[in-house]
Amino acid sequence: MNMMKRGDYILIIFLLLFAGVLFLHNMNNIQEKGTMVEIRFADEDPIYVSIDQNTTLDLSHGDLVNILCIEDEKVYMLESNCRDQLCVRRGEISLEGESIVCLPHRISIVILGTDKGDIDALSQ
Ligand SMILES: [Zn+2]
Repeated sequence: MNMMKRGDYILIIFLLLFAGVLFLHNMNNIQEKGTMVEIRFADEDPIYVSIDQNTTLDLSHGDLVNILCIEDEKVYMLESNCRDQLCVRRGEISLEGESIVCLPHRISIVILGTDKGDIDALSQ
């Protein structure tokens, strides 16, 4: 009976890690697509926009430029003149719970899911 070689152990560990990564990836895919986009500026009341409309929102306040795009049920910051550009580099978000934050401009965008029956109450 052959002893397992060191290489075999490495292969098994690699396969286990690979399976783990696949599992996590699938978990992400299970995450629900969002239906609403919540947009907040500073401590103003948030506004809500449906994610299934293709639109461009100008969230600029004075010299603070933020242009948000909703396109094919994906949300992304098209343009900003903030100093860190993290919001622009965040790229597209589309799943419930994902967010884009522009810290220098105090803007946050969060995708909400389907089971938010109290959205109307919140936005009043
Ligand atoms: Zn930004």
